[in-house]
Amino acid sequence: MPDTHRIVPDRPVSLASLPTRAEGFHADRRKAEREFKTLRRKLVDSQFRLYAEGKQKLLVVLQAMDAGGKDSTIRRVFEGLNQQGVRVESFKAPSQRELARDYLWRIHRAVPAKGMIRVFNRSHYEDVLIVRVDSLVPEDVWSRRYEQINQFEKLLADTGTTIRKFFLHISKEEQKERMEKRLADPSRHWKFSRDDLDKRKQWDDYMAAYEDALSRCSTEHAPWYAIPSDQKWYRNLAIARVLTATLDEMDPQFPPPEDGLDRIRVV
Ligand code: ATP
Ligand code: MG
Repeated sequence: MPDTHRIVPDRPVSLASLPTRAEGFHADRRKAEREFKTLRRKLVDSQFRLYAEGKQKLLVVLQAMDAGGKDSTIRRVFEGLNQQGVRVESFKAPSQRELARDYLWRIHRAVPAKGMIRVFNRSHYEDVLIVRVDSLVPEDVWSRRYEQINQFEKLLADTGTTIRKFFLHISKEEQKERMEKRLADPSRHWKFSRDDLDKRKQWDDYMAAYEDALSRCSTEHAPWYAIPSDQKWYRNLAIARVLTATLDEMDPQFPPPEDGLDRIRVV
């Protein structure tokens, strides 16, 4: 079940034919919310062990179109985890300092340390998304990045980092509704930028860029998942299922206690 939305490596992806809605996967919102609650408790427990064990690392990548729900996924799925063991890293347009290095420099500095979970709110994939769509570098530069990214993620995997990547797949209609909601609600105005409308006009170009990123960079060691995200309750559940199954596989253990703890008296 956790692999329902996994992108099969090296096969073309057509986002238009991948679902943005839960129908066909889950019919009952109430039940889904109950399961999500249970999985959240598991997640909290597993992360406690991951941190205590201090050996393994988990990297979670979130990508989406504007209003795709990255922020609310972070709030809902990761709330209540041990704050010392989880950190969100948001990647905006690169600074001069970052542009003076290779595009993976700022990414590599942010990868999780032992015992940690890192959530990437946007990521190195921007370097084959906005960079490709807006022609920020020539094609012969961005087209080589898919392979470079696979190699980079392989390095991370080989050195003990588990990687899971989620594309929050929403329909163009759903994005319109969410943007209208933001415009109608002063407390959401800060989330609205005119720039988002320009990107909406480039929707088809973005879909083509996402299709290549997903099909070329979904690998055994760093799989992509295209999560139907028009309904938040299903999006949260689908991501929680993948993450709890992943942490089950990682199976973090509490470190063994010091010898003779049973003979110690605290006075
Ligand atoms: P979000 O839209 O993720 O919720 P935000 O609205 O707080 O974040 P934005 O100013 O929209 O912040 O920041 C993200 C912007 O930075 C996006 O337009 C994204 O495409 C851009 N960006 C991220 N990485 C790169 C990159 N490597 N090159 C160019 N632009 C990038
Ligand atoms: Mg934005």
